[in-house]
Amino acid sequence: MIVTINPATGEQLAEYPVMIAGQIDSVLRQADADFRRWRSTSFGERRTCMKRLAELLREQAEKHGRIITLEMGKPFSQAVAEVNKCAWVCDYFADHAEEFLQPEQSEIDGAKGIVAFEPLGVILGVMPWNFPYWQVLRFAAPILMAGNGIVVKHAPNVTGCAIAIEKLFRDAGFPEHLYRAVHIDLDEVDRLTGFMIDHPVIKAVSVTGSTGAGQAVAAKAGKALKRSVLELGGSDPYIVLEDADLAQAVDACVAGRLLNAGQSCIAAKRFIVRKEIIGEFTKKIVQRMQTAVMGDPFAKSTEVGPIAREDLRDLVHSQVQRSVEAGAELLWGGHVPNAPGWYYPPTVLSGVKPGMPAYSEEIFGPVATIIEVADDDEAVAIANDSEFGLGSAVFSQDVERALGIARRLEAGSCFINTMVKSDPRLPFGGVKQSGYGRELSHHGIREFVNIKTFYLP
Ligand code: NAP
Repeated sequence: MIVTINPATGEQLAEYPVMIAGQIDSVLRQADADFRRWRSTSFGERRTCMKRLAELLREQAEKHGRIITLEMGKPFSQAVAEVNKCAWVCDYFADHAEEFLQPEQSEIDGAKGIVAFEPLGVILGVMPWNFPYWQVLRFAAPILMAGNGIVVKHAPNVTGCAIAIEKLFRDAGFPEHLYRAVHIDLDEVDRLTGFMIDHPVIKAVSVTGSTGAGQAVAAKAGKALKRSVLELGGSDPYIVLEDADLAQAVDACVAGRLLNAGQSCIAAKRFIVRKEIIGEFTKKIVQRMQTAVMGDPFAKSTEVGPIAREDLRDLVHSQVQRSVEAGAELLWGGHVPNAPGWYYPPTVLSGVKPGMPAYSEEIFGPVATIIEVADDDEAVAIANDSEFGLGSAVFSQDVERALGIARRLEAGSCFINTMVKSDPRLPFGGVKQSGYGRELSHHGIREFVNIKTFYLP
């Protein structure tokens, strides 16, 4: 049984049966049968279903936002915004897939070369809980528009979301089994994911999750010689230079750190600040973290909800405690509230140095980590002194100087004077332990296609 629990109260929400290998085998075969019909549909037919899905997401944004908030504690307004963003990605790929997958023609020594982008088959998605709709829809929209089928293994604490998403695809008019969810017992995840990756129906896999999950799945995919895309953890550096617009930088750092109670792969996780302004910057960050309202995720005033699971809340607290024991200064927060639910308050750590968890580990909670640097070279060196390489940001009123630093950062993206965000029009992904491959934009839709060459003399 999978048991879901409301992180705001600690109370049980629901119980769901898990699937055994035989049932998963049937799901895969049914998905494959629908894929074989779907692959020969026109872009127009696919677009009709995807547009309808976008409409349903918009019409039912509050209903789905409520499931997200109940299951993983995201403030309701953020949950509704997440569902609306899913509608955007569906519209985007409905409108652009045909253009992105147009065959390319060239003349080669008097012969004709044609490159076509054909579907691969059924793609497995292994998905996290932190953006339980967005991570799934940004993976699914381009893959289905390219003519593939999908089977998704969701994180178990968002099983209600998983079931609701599967129904949305059916209600939008997609073939009944083209998009399927599987529900797996925690003790069986490794074995049954291996079973799916080895299964002849599965042609490739995409993982969004921690580096550990990425390593486990990619090792199996490598052994089975199947393609993988890995969207993994991050510890995004936000470099604040002495000529930054401080109010703008503080706004972006706080928003980037508190969104989803800090549980975002691209959250602002390390504030790397020039020593000339560190006093003023720190004072403003502490003020903002002190006044951020934590509480019931359904309350309109709430900015910070609970952490999604008790063990994850305990991990955040242990990372803070171990950093303080190693010499970091705790300026605000840093305690487990004596109340129901798995809350963790906005917290500020300064004087963070190598060897502390706050310096090197991904902290998945509302914890601001402040690191002082003497000059731009030191800022770049510290930003790159991480196993991760997902997003990054630089704050300076001199855009050329900021861009010069951005080019030296080992990351999949760098945002200037604003927080890191994903956008359907731009590729999204990381380097180093943050993974490989890209989602979104025309780069994302080409990850799961057979780039097929035709040669005509
Ligand atoms: P997680 O514990 O790694 O879980 C992610 C998914 O992987 C879950 O469905 C999980 O299933 C599965 N999984 C874990 N170990 C597995 C294994 N050995 N074999 C097969 N599947 C396995 O991560 P999370 O706590 O849900 O999400 C937080 C992490 O995701 C953070 O590190 C965050 O930065 C990262 N993330 C990255 C991105 C990105 O785009 N780069 C986006 C969002 C989140 P079970 O839970 O059933 O084990």
